[in-house]
Amino acid sequence: MRITVLTGGIGGARFLAGVRAYAREKKAEVTAVVNVGDDVRMHGLRICPDLDSVMYTLGGAHDPERGWGRVGESWAVKEELAAYGAEPTWFGLGDKDIGTHLVRTQMLAAGYPLSQVTAALCERWQPGVTLLPATDDRLETHVVVDVDGERKAIHFQEWWVRYRGDLPTHRFVFVGADAAKPAPGVTEAIEGADVVLLAPSNPVVSIAPILAVPGVREALSEGPAPVIGVSPIIGGSPVRGMADKCLATLGVEVSAAGVGALYGEDLLDGWLVDTADEKADVPGVTTRAVPLWMTDENATAKMVAEAIILADKR
Ligand code: GDP
Ligand code: CA
Repeated sequence: MRITVLTGGIGGARFLAGVRAYAREKKAEVTAVVNVGDDVRMHGLRICPDLDSVMYTLGGAHDPERGWGRVGESWAVKEELAAYGAEPTWFGLGDKDIGTHLVRTQMLAAGYPLSQVTAALCERWQPGVTLLPATDDRLETHVVVDVDGERKAIHFQEWWVRYRGDLPTHRFVFVGADAAKPAPGVTEAIEGADVVLLAPSNPVVSIAPILAVPGVREALSEGPAPVIGVSPIIGGSPVRGMADKCLATLGVEVSAAGVGALYGEDLLDGWLVDTADEKADVPGVTTRAVPLWMTDENATAKMVAEAIILADKR
């Protein structure tokens, strides 16, 4: 069996740990297509927050308390940069993490595409699933906001980390998406899958940028595999993170039904919701209610098993 997962960073990484556990038992192959909209260049380094969250988490090297970055991290470089007054000071780069960014930036400068760089980094971390960036091309999520009475577009990281999404926010723009191509292997992973899962990642800034790459939506709807979404919203709450702020910007209700309808029947063959959202109704889509709290790998693997049951049933 071949399972392909569309995913963002932290929530997606936790989900993928459950997919990997499920796949080990079923001898299935897993490919993760990872959001690159959060990617950013800082201090001359190319940073890929979602790819790294997935890689570190599946490699057992993430900091479970902070949620992002490496466990046992130190911050000497960050302090040195701050002492020089080097902007941006609001973005936390750990010393160990910087090692990853140096290797990545150097390989990109030597001409390797991001997909090959990711494969090279994964040789160290052995995540147990194939990690593919959604695209090798530049695709960045920008946010149109009002800052100090002025309307402008800022990078998603600045909106998220510096302002905590706490600005009058008008819309999200996936800069570069129109001209982007799916990274090598992405279309094949979707069209050749037995099932495609949408991780319970942020629908607006993790999953939507992947869907914005021309060809991805077509592969999902034309490929033979059923597409099963897993709700990131439980009982009207985003569990962790700021999906509620992102959905509000789009005018989408913060609910399992709201996100299901946002994806819609064109994309979804099935929609897995939490038992708290049993009554969630998405027109044209079969829903199934099971516990969706990713408390540990076992609980998450059970969610995945339920998603596969839904795929078989529809
Ligand atoms: P990010 O890129 O690091 O922000 O992470 P993702 O976009 O992959 O995932 C973030 C989303 O995961 C959050 O918006 C939550 O809605 C969702 N999430 C986090 N924990 C859980 C959980 O235990 N269950 C479910 N169903 N969703 C969760
Ligand atoms: Ca992210």
